[in-house]
Amino acid sequence: MTVSLPKVRLFVEAELGPGRLVEPSRDQSHYLVNVMRLGRGDSVGLFNGRDGEWRAELTAAGRSAALVCAERVRRQRIPPDLWLLFAPVKKARTDFIVEKATELGAARIQPVFTRFTNAERLRPDRLRAHAIEAAEQCGETHVPEVAEPLRLAALLDAWDPARRILFADETLTARPAAEALAEATHGPWAVLTGPEGGFAPEEAERLRTLPFVLPVTLGPRILRADTAAVAALTLWQSTLGDWRG
Ligand code: SAH
Repeated sequence: MTVSLPKVRLFVEAELGPGRLVEPSRDQSHYLVNVMRLGRGDSVGLFNGRDGEWRAELTAAGRSAALVCAERVRRQRIPPDLWLLFAPVKKARTDFIVEKATELGAARIQPVFTRFTNAERLRPDRLRAHAIEAAEQCGETHVPEVAEPLRLAALLDAWDPARRILFADETLTARPAAEALAEATHGPWAVLTGPEGGFAPEEAERLRTLPFVLPVTLGPRILRADTAAVAALTLWQSTLGDWRG
């Protein structure tokens, strides 16, 4: 069956199913009608993170824009069980990390405050909006949860040891990431990257002693925090994740 995928995609909270009516938010209506210039009868892709993607038709334009679901065009995708744990950095780079982690298929995003984390107040709701926008533009039906920030020590105290942590260790003393991942086994994983100031020595030491932590080196150069997150997620996805075809 060939179904054409709508070019415009929107994340909505509403249930999706045959004939269901969905009211877009005011911003979404503005986007559909004034920015994308869609009119009555035009198709829009809708997804809510649970019901796959539905082709919906715009039944009315203007202030009372409404969408009616026609048929499902994508199944709900269950992403690989990969979390990103990252130390927040400056606002624009933190936004970049959330956007790229979504595109790269992280299932959940957890900001982590480390000793040298030097970030302004975090707004998980704003970060979630970035994740939604990234999912809308990259054809994903899953939107990663952006969790409330946690301190690294508290996070590790409560950690489920069944989930392994790929620890991006900037001291360049660990094994190369690709080599370590080639020997690693499937299961729940998380990638951990530090702030611009790096991990404090006692933080790195604690991480290295934990049995579920796999410290790795991402090449011979020191990467910026945002680059390190993208690189580590890419390596994981290409060895253990859904880039393997
Ligand atoms: N200020 C630190 C660098 C921090 S880079 C220093 O000069 O040493 C920010 C984060 O990116 C690090 O905490 C680490 O998680 C990751 N990172 C950067 N380059 C890396 C590399 N070559 N290998 C592994 N992790 C790296």
